[in-house]
Amino acid sequence: MSVKLDALNKVFVAQLKDMYSAEKQLLEALPRMRDAATNSKLKSAFDEHLKETQGQIGRLEGIFKTLDFEPGGHRCKAMEGLIEEAKEIIDEDGEPEAKDAALICAAQKVEHYEIATYGSLRAYARVLDDDESYKLLHKTLEEERSADSLLTDLAENTINRLAMLAAAN
Ligand code: FE
Ligand code: ZN
Ligand code: FE
Ligand code: FE
Repeated sequence: MSVKLDALNKVFVAQLKDMYSAEKQLLEALPRMRDAATNSKLKSAFDEHLKETQGQIGRLEGIFKTLDFEPGGHRCKAMEGLIEEAKEIIDEDGEPEAKDAALICAAQKVEHYEIATYGSLRAYARVLDDDESYKLLHKTLEEERSADSLLTDLAENTINRLAMLAAAN
């Protein structure tokens, strides 16, 4: 497939590169977040999303191949900062339940960042009439959204209350 290098196409490629870097950085951070978590459901959520992240990187590589672009050459500074914040929580002393709550907050910041970018990317694929990329980006966007809502459920139904009680002890 040959790609016309019009303006939006360049934005598309630039944001794909940003997301590729973001996902690669997250792939290294998620095991550390899992190890820092105490709640078993939270640990599983991080593990599950680690597997999904591997698949998402594969999808991005597929899109780059179709577009005939190399994925590298850019570092996502936003993800770097979000992961830096997660590391601050990991290194912090404190009650395990409270750390779990803070880890969820850090993880949801990551998911929202991803949702914003994949939402834009999917919209670009649609207007560029790139059906194959659209399908792949749609699938990833759905995974990011469900990862985010699983974290919301864990926080609001269990972990926030445990964190509150930990402080009362
Ligand atoms: Fe992702
Ligand atoms: Zn970025
Ligand atoms: Fe910001
Ligand atoms: Fe994600």
